[in-house]
Amino acid sequence: MNHSPLQNLRDRALLKTAAYVNGAWLEQTQRFSVTDPATGLELARVADTDRGHAQQAIAAAGAAWPAWRDKTAKERATLLMRWNALMLEHADDLALLMTAEQGKPLAEARGEVAYAASFLEWFAEEGRRVCGETIATHDPGKRLLVLRQAVGVCAAITPWNFPLAMITRKVAPALAAGCPVIVKPAEQTPLCALALAELAARAGLPPGIFNVLSADGANSIAVGRALCESPVVRHLSFTGSTEVGRILIRQCAPTIKKLSLELGGNAPFIVFDDADIESAVEGALISKFRNAGQTCVCVNRFYVQEGVYETFVTRLAERVRELRLGNGFDPGVQVASLIDDPAVEKVRQHVSDAQSKGGRVLAGGRLRSGRLFEPTVIADASADMLCAHEETFGPVAPIFRFQSEAEAIALANATEFGLASYLYSRDIGRIFRVAEALESGMVGINTGHISTAEAPFGGVKQSGLGREGSRHGIEDYLELKYLCLGGI
Ligand code: NAP
Repeated sequence: MNHSPLQNLRDRALLKTAAYVNGAWLEQTQRFSVTDPATGLELARVADTDRGHAQQAIAAAGAAWPAWRDKTAKERATLLMRWNALMLEHADDLALLMTAEQGKPLAEARGEVAYAASFLEWFAEEGRRVCGETIATHDPGKRLLVLRQAVGVCAAITPWNFPLAMITRKVAPALAAGCPVIVKPAEQTPLCALALAELAARAGLPPGIFNVLSADGANSIAVGRALCESPVVRHLSFTGSTEVGRILIRQCAPTIKKLSLELGGNAPFIVFDDADIESAVEGALISKFRNAGQTCVCVNRFYVQEGVYETFVTRLAERVRELRLGNGFDPGVQVASLIDDPAVEKVRQHVSDAQSKGGRVLAGGRLRSGRLFEPTVIADASADMLCAHEETFGPVAPIFRFQSEAEAIALANATEFGLASYLYSRDIGRIFRVAEALESGMVGINTGHISTAEAPFGGVKQSGLGREGSRHGIEDYLELKYLCLGGI
């Protein structure tokens, strides 16, 4: 007898399966199946919205915009703070939904709920600090002023790996700035998004301000196209693969939309001879194996200097063999199921490719059962391996060797991506030289954990456009308007 984890929800009303448009649940839609990636069992049948529903949501958001824009920042902040409090109050249920549909360990899911809620709190506060400018004039008879105004209706397309945080990181600044939002969550993880809509309704967000269009893979394309093509939608924020990011840029070209893109990564992690090795191993575990390696900022390539190479790989392999692999609901599990079969296949392919090219597997290397891939350490990695160029998006740590600082920088930068990088050293001069030379939007120095609502998150090169979080994260949702006042 299979017991659905959703039966353990304390507040059953958080399990929503209809799409949420204009403050109402759309019951009359096709449905698609949402499954537990760890067991393959169906969790729910969820609304499969299409182009028509997207147009309905766009019209609702467009109609709701003026009243929302005209509220004071404090009024909007009060609603966001209420929503934040509700997320924290229901953290256990939200975490349960997340582990059920995404697979990550329950403790990590709880951490994500708090991280996701922190964006509501942060941007509720930031929204009240949006300021314009007065500029020293070029003409005594004129005064020059700058207003910062809400951009308008926004759309957000989000991935499955952070089912709540990738939504609030976009929605919170948009709402705080005065923009309504339409969210299209990933096919695998709509339940978290819909629970968030239920809490938005309880917090008192007006109809049309926050809309969620769940859809399966095929309809996601249709909904995405409708959002991109609409002239009413003035901004699109997307987190996902670089490949889909390129499609969305093309689709948005005719309507010249503002774009915020958080795309793929291929993070390097550099360990210099002078590093504290225990701390580097600790950072490596956090950065590489969180969410089973399915995070955009997780390390894809380890570069370790010759003098500490064997010490580092041996110690990392020891620690990795201790990691507990299992179902995300089991107590103490640190690495859980991958999201789906193609993800397992990619990891398997990267491991066998590395082995065929001389990689030494020091820990893991096999699929244990279902979608549980053993946390893996591969020594003697080389530049011709797939894992050197492609995002593995799984629990595999390939370790390359280097000799000099210049070589480490060149190797780290030899990718079209530029999201996160990490370096371990105790030489302050080297830390500055290397951090400044790394081509990435974020650098973790002597730490493997960098994400927080207070800091600007985003990439350079083909990892994206714009920044989320921090005081900069609200900028993409605001337009500058210059007023030139004559006749003074
Ligand atoms: P994905 O395949 O690009 O999907 C992301 C979202 O886009 C999903 O909602 C998906 O819907 C939707 N989508 C796919 N094709 C579309 C299309 N043609 N038109 C409109 N929407 C479309 O990425 P993923 O596999 O879910 O996520 C993994 C990737 O995200 C990795 O590359 C990772 O690095 C990146 N990521 C980046 C960040 C960051 O902040 N930079 C954060 C997290 C993840 P369906 O699910 O329904 O197909």
